[in-house]
Amino acid sequence: MLPHPIRLAIVGLGKIARDQHIPAIEGNPAFELSAIASRNASLPGLPHYADVDALLAGATVDAVSLCTPPQGRYAQALAALNAGRHVLLEKPPGASLSEIRPMLALAAEKRVSLFATWHSRFAAAVEPARAFLAQNAIRSVRVTWKEDVRHWHPGQAWIWEPGGLGVFDPGINALSIVTRILPRPIFLTQAQLAFPANRAAPIAADLTFRDVMGTPVEMAFDWRQTGPQSWDIEVETDAGTLLLSQGGKVLTLDGRPLVEDEDVEYAGIYRRFAALIAAGESDVDLAPLTHVADAFLLGRRVDVEPFEDAA
Ligand code: NAP
Repeated sequence: MLPHPIRLAIVGLGKIARDQHIPAIEGNPAFELSAIASRNASLPGLPHYADVDALLAGATVDAVSLCTPPQGRYAQALAALNAGRHVLLEKPPGASLSEIRPMLALAAEKRVSLFATWHSRFAAAVEPARAFLAQNAIRSVRVTWKEDVRHWHPGQAWIWEPGGLGVFDPGINALSIVTRILPRPIFLTQAQLAFPANRAAPIAADLTFRDVMGTPVEMAFDWRQTGPQSWDIEVETDAGTLLLSQGGKVLTLDGRPLVEDEDVEYAGIYRRFAALIAAGESDVDLAPLTHVADAFLLGRRVDVEPFEDAA
C-alpha cells in the first residue's frame, strides 16, 4: 500500500479522458490527478507534458492512464512500465494482439500493475446478467450494436485508420460483455465486413458465432444508424428472454425490469485499478480483441459507399 493517494497522470486528453476518466478519478480518494501528457491539450493548475516520455522524465507519478488511440499504446505502455509505473489501458488494449504479451511480461518484471480495461463490463446490469445465465439454459444470443458514427466519433481520423478498428471500436464493447456473461466460450464461424471505399476500417459487420454446445450467437454492428441507437444483447433462455440494453445499464426478463442503474462504469474501473495496485496484480483479458482479430481473419470484405465525416 502506498503511503499517499496514487499519483496518476492521464496520457491523451481527448473525449473519453474528459467525459469519464477525470470525473471518476476526482470521485475516488485513492487517486490524485497529478499531471497531463497530451500534445495539444492541458488542464489549468496541473503540470503539462507534451508526451509520455517528457512526463516520465519530469513528473512525480505512480501510475498512468493511457487514453490515447490504440495505435500508439504499445510504445507508451512500454515506456511507463519500464519506468516502474502502474498502467491502465483504455480499450482496446493495443493495436495488435501480440504487442500486449510483452507489456504483461514487463509489468511482471517491474512488479507493477497492468490493467486492460473493458469499461462496458462495469455497467450495472452485466454481473446480474452473468449470474442469471449461469443458472438458465441458453437457446440463442442476438447482439444489435448500431449507432451514428457522426454523432459519437466526429472528426476522429484515427478510428478509420488500420488499428483504429472502425465499427469494432464500439463493437468490442459488446464483445467484452458477451465474453463476460456467457458461461461457455464462443468462436466465430462467419463474418461480413463492410468497408467504405475510401476508408481502411469497416463501417458495419455481421458476425456469426457459436459456442462449444452449438448455441448460435449472432451480432450486427453498424455505424450508419440514425434515429434511435441500439446497444442490445438479447438472450433466449429456457426461463424467458433476457434483454441487456443501453450498453449493459438495463436488464429485463420478458419485459419485466430486473436492473436499471446510472452510469457507473468508470467509477468501477478506478476502484478495480486501486485494488489491483494494492494487491500487486494485473488484469489483462484478451478475449474481446481476439474475436475482433478473428473477424478480420475470417471476414469477407465488401466495399460500400465512401464515408465522409461532414453530414
Ligand atoms: P480522442 O477524442 O481522439 O482522444 C484521444 C487523444 O489522444 C487525443 O485528443 C490526442 O490528444 C491524443 N493522441 C495522441 N496520439 C494521437 C494520435 N496519433 N491521433 C489522435 N490523437 C492522439 O479519442 P477518444 O474517443 O477519447 O478515445 C481514446 C481511446 O478511448 C480509444 O481507444 C477509444 O476506443 C477509447 N474509448 C472511447 C470512448 C468514447 O466514447 N469516445 C469510450 C470508451 C473508450 P493530443 O492531440 O492533445 O495529444
